[in-house]
Amino acid sequence: MTLLPIIDDSPAPQPTPRAPQDGTSKGSYAFVSLGCPKNLVDSERMLGLLQLKGYELVADPDGSDFVVVNTCGFIERARDESFAAVDEMLQLKKDGRIKGVIVSGCLAERQKESLLEERPEIDALVGVFGREEITKVADRLLGNLEEQRSVFKPAPIRALPDRDRLRITPRHFSYLKISEGCDRLCTFCAIPKMRGKHATKPMEEILAEARQLADSGVRELIIVAQDTTYYGMDLYGEPRLTELLAELDKVDGLDWIRLMYFYPMYIDDRLIETIASSRRILPYLDMPLQHINNTMLRRMSRRVSREETESLLVKLRSGIPNLTMRTTFITGFPGETDAQFEELVDFVAEQRFERAGVFTYSLEGDTPAALIDGHLPEEVKNERRDRLMAVQQPIAFEHAQSQIGKKIEIILDQPAPGQKFAFIGRTLADAPDVDSVAYVTGTKKQRLKPGDIVSAEVVAAQDYDLIAAAVGKPH
Ligand code: SF4
Repeated sequence: MTLLPIIDDSPAPQPTPRAPQDGTSKGSYAFVSLGCPKNLVDSERMLGLLQLKGYELVADPDGSDFVVVNTCGFIERARDESFAAVDEMLQLKKDGRIKGVIVSGCLAERQKESLLEERPEIDALVGVFGREEITKVADRLLGNLEEQRSVFKPAPIRALPDRDRLRITPRHFSYLKISEGCDRLCTFCAIPKMRGKHATKPMEEILAEARQLADSGVRELIIVAQDTTYYGMDLYGEPRLTELLAELDKVDGLDWIRLMYFYPMYIDDRLIETIASSRRILPYLDMPLQHINNTMLRRMSRRVSREETESLLVKLRSGIPNLTMRTTFITGFPGETDAQFEELVDFVAEQRFERAGVFTYSLEGDTPAALIDGHLPEEVKNERRDRLMAVQQPIAFEHAQSQIGKKIEIILDQPAPGQKFAFIGRTLADAPDVDSVAYVTGTKKQRLKPGDIVSAEVVAAQDYDLIAAAVGKPH
């Protein structure tokens, strides 16, 4: 559970939204943000809107006027975490410590009826596409108006603006959401039910947002969407990610542009060349593959075969020098046989992905996969996940070892606790939260600070992580 605000001691400029200058506060609130980076962008947008309207964000919900819980509804574990956060806030309300609880985000979208039925003390539900209404909901809540419980908006499909956010990531990096929703129909996935069909954010809006972020001190921009490669299909009638990336690459002030959530379709030579020849786009790709056996891929409705995936991987590796590939897999999808799982194990061993995550299949009642035969016991799903990770782990460790002696660029995220002139950072092969970190030691003279990008010599590797010594001045 992330209770905001996160303390950020980086000295970069303040983010853009400004509270009213007359010093009046309409009320105080705390915010709990859960789930993925897409939801985090939504949280930041709601925080920005509330700030612009004069609401004051506080760190401790106890004693505030209201709390917003922006929930995740993806799989059971995420829902449980969201329920726990909502219940904790409802208890504060029951004890008379806060006036109201607003529940927003994916869970509010997915389980609106049961949420209100089982937790009638919730004051307002705000769906994924109702987030622009957050200040009206707060006004109504604090104004004791009757209709507050009906504010929930069923999702009209449109790409909402994400500008004027109050960012909660460290100032030097930010997520940039380029579209909403998803048109793929992967049978295990409930996301299109919560976030609707794909809706492209117009290119000029994204570029304006990127410039605003760069002006506010962002050096690393992390491109996110449910499906990044589908960008443009609904709005322009063709994929336009290549054009968008070429324009983003020109935004002054940015140093790194990181690409997440690629789908293994619509990646053509132009896109690969654009990434390879760009100034700022990193040779890093996050492309969830989920499985490699053709029967499994068909059952998952991935609409891409093993052969197509393999030839794409060859193209990516040969077209983008020093590429770091990140991917994810699902173990124990309904009907997965021992032989099909072994095929996946062999594939992971052969491909030697620098980064890979493995998840067990989660049965989601409202998805097509729930009706497929051959659901496997949790025990089997877990065993297979552990086995696949046992194959991947030494590959990742060897990759870390292979960096020893190299001089690489590292972005410094935060000071290392309890150590002088030492920082926790990331190489260009590491996205925040999901990948490894690099511990960097500097000297007093180097005057390193969070947000700096510094050259460093890797002196050791500790499992997934690197230990490095800063060389020269940061930039
Ligand atoms: S691409 Fe598939 S897994 Fe990803 S959000 Fe869309 S439907 Fe879900």
